[in-house]
Amino acid sequence: TTFKDLGLSPSLLATLDKEGYHTPTPIQAQAIPSLLNGQDLLGIAQTGTGKTAAFALPILHHVLSNRIIAAPKTCRVLVLSPTRELATQIADSFKAYSRGFGLQIATIFGGVKYGPQYKALAQGLDILVATPGRLMDHLEQKTVDLRSVEFFVLDEADQMLDLGFVKPIRQVASRMPAKRQNLFFSATMPKEIGLLAGELLTNPKRVEI
Ligand code: AMP
Repeated sequence: TTFKDLGLSPSLLATLDKEGYHTPTPIQAQAIPSLLNGQDLLGIAQTGTGKTAAFALPILHHVLSNRIIAAPKTCRVLVLSPTRELATQIADSFKAYSRGFGLQIATIFGGVKYGPQYKALAQGLDILVATPGRLMDHLEQKTVDLRSVEFFVLDEADQMLDLGFVKPIRQVASRMPAKRQNLFFSATMPKEIGLLAGELLTNPKRVEI
């Protein structure tokens, strides 16, 4: 299988060539076609499997094929990550795969000043990568508005559980439109995470690596 076979747009194929990605990893080969078709995804996979590109590439394909200027405080894509380190890595991947396309991409996490985050959110974003606690703070302050989210990614759901983020995730989900595409990743599937996946996902494609 090649990335071309998976149905990604020519501009993304050119980017992948520059990144030196020649062959899709198993999770990419199994997840990308369903994601391009608009289906929800339940991915059971560890870090190192190429899962970031498995969700970032089809999301970028959709976002780039329908360019919209995001209204102030809104975003088209919301990715939730348990830690600032992972959030930064995910945002860096989105930036690398969309270099030259002029997308607005921001990262929001706790332990740092609010000022730059207010400014980034205020402009309106294509892609927002956030940790749940700080995102909830912004929701309460009304400095972010999730009512136009089209794509929602929950990464490392089992770590979210360990860090006590299940309640904030449910609150965040309640602020998004019901009609959206959901991508849910976890390395393991404890009972609470299975329940959360059942609440957030509609008829998902299941990929286990
Ligand atoms: P991840 O599992 O998302 O943390 O990705 C692990 C590493 O694999 C990252 O450094 C990616 O840049 C790299 N990677 C992802 N997909 C591919 C691919 N198809 N070919 C080569 N490297 C890749």
